[in-house]
Amino acid sequence: MKTKKLVLIIVTVYAALLILSLFASIVIATISGTLFRGGLINALQSLPGAAFGLLFLIAPLGALAIWINSKIQRTRCVNCGTFRAYSVTESQRIGESEISTPQPIETRNARGEVTSTTVQYIPGTRIHYRDTYTCKSCGHSYDVDRSEDVAHI
Ligand SMILES: [Zn+2]
Repeated sequence: MKTKKLVLIIVTVYAALLILSLFASIVIATISGTLFRGGLINALQSLPGAAFGLLFLIAPLGALAIWINSKIQRTRCVNCGTFRAYSVTESQRIGESEISTPQPIETRNARGEVTSTTVQYIPGTRIHYRDTYTCKSCGHSYDVDRSEDVAHI
């Protein structure tokens, strides 16, 4: 499965970055500890701070990478794995139902300032649609139902 492989790579890279950041923080702490009075003891004391600093730098980058990956994965065809595969090939009106739609009514004073807002319910129609998404590469398709509210004014 290609998806699992990609996730594994990202997790490995992320783990490697974490280890690298810890290693870098030890080096930075040692250098700063040697440069500024105190040597090794000072280096060990400043180590947690340096490590945390780098972890806070690396963690958002890892989170960003995972977020971008999940975005990309969502556009993939579940059958053939093509990226950005789906587009709406059919939009069918499958029905409608009568509803009440809330409309905000503003009350204004002589200077035109809004003094109060109330909600009035106006009858409307909820139109149900079924969209068919089809993969451009292998033709795999799935349906998504959605609805649109139209108020009768
Ligand atoms: Zn496909």
